[in-house]
Amino acid sequence: MSAFPDRLLAGYDRFMNGRYDEERERYRELAEKGQKPQTLVIACCDSRAAPETIFNSGPGELFVVRNVANLVPPYAPDGEFHSTSAALEFAVQSLRVRDIVVMGHGRCGGISAALDPNAEPLSPGDFIGRWMSLLTPVSSEIQQNTLLTPGERQTALERISIRNSIANLRTFPCVKILEDKGKLNLHGAWFDISTGELWVMNDATGDFSRPGR
Ligand SMILES: [Zn+2]
Repeated sequence: MSAFPDRLLAGYDRFMNGRYDEERERYRELAEKGQKPQTLVIACCDSRAAPETIFNSGPGELFVVRNVANLVPPYAPDGEFHSTSAALEFAVQSLRVRDIVVMGHGRCGGISAALDPNAEPLSPGDFIGRWMSLLTPVSSEIQQNTLLTPGERQTALERISIRNSIANLRTFPCVKILEDKGKLNLHGAWFDISTGELWVMNDATGDFSRPGR
């Protein structure tokens, strides 16, 4: 049997002696009373775009769903395995989160794969190609736009896909009903891993800008 990765064990030791120690009470309270996060974040699996790190959040604050390219599929109760939809249902119906943030990021490998299915590092494989097809026909349209540079195409699709996911969120009856009642807010965000900048989506226009603070 191969050994459990040392790097993880060392990190766990630091966590127990640092953060867990500092937040012991909070963990104990959360264990007793259960979680009540106010925000659901739908983010990419990318190792550089962890929502808990970016938002500097503590235990119990964020309910996080991560998948390749932070996509939300449309509502489709068809008996298939829908991990993102199941997590969304749990967050909205049971945890009653008040905000849902779809957070994309720069240099997303999933988005690159949607623009060029043969590009490294992601190949269509058995699942990725089908998963990223959630973005067609938009991805093919952008792919064919020769006025844009490859970098511009990439950023454009990263942001358009966030708007696409937010539109798909509204196809879930539980989301639509609570949003219409003013009990649930949907947001888009895009994180630039190279500069650390966070851009947020304007609900009315769909444009992204740096939040004024
Ligand atoms: Zn990504």
